Amino acid sequence: MSDCIFCKIAHGEIPSDLLYEDDNVVAFEDLNPQAPVHVLVVPKAHYATLLEDVDAPTLVSMRRAVASVAKRFDLGERGFRCIVNTGADAGQTVMHLHLHVLGGTPLGEGLL
Ligand code: ADP
Repeated sequence: MSDCIFCKIAHGEIPSDLLYEDDNVVAFEDLNPQAPVHVLVVPKAHYATLLEDVDAPTLVSMRRAVASVAKRFDLGERGFRCIVNTGADAGQTVMHLHLHVLGGTPLGEGLL
């Protein structure tokens, strides 16, 4: 999608410091971090939400990216949270599927 900001980042059209990349996904720091570690894992293919038929290699890559981020920031022992906001009630503002990885501090219980 030509006007999608995450497509542009994922395809290198907007320069970004990538923390992880493989054939299917990229990971980079959120512009407006909500925790000491706040990384977005973004498929290279444009899926608007998790309701779409995301292909299996992309799902596998998303998990690998999460594991890579956890290792890089040493989150494995203390834990971290993954969130996929989907649609209006969840507050999704960027309509390109992305998984938030949050950690580096106690995250509280809130809704989850
Ligand atoms: P919300 O905006 O409510 O967090 P989303 O789940 O759609 O809803 O999250 C979009 C996320 O993308 C936000 O955390 C926002 O800070 C981040 N973001 C938007 N544009 C960029 C960008 N160019 N680079 C990095 N992160 C971005």
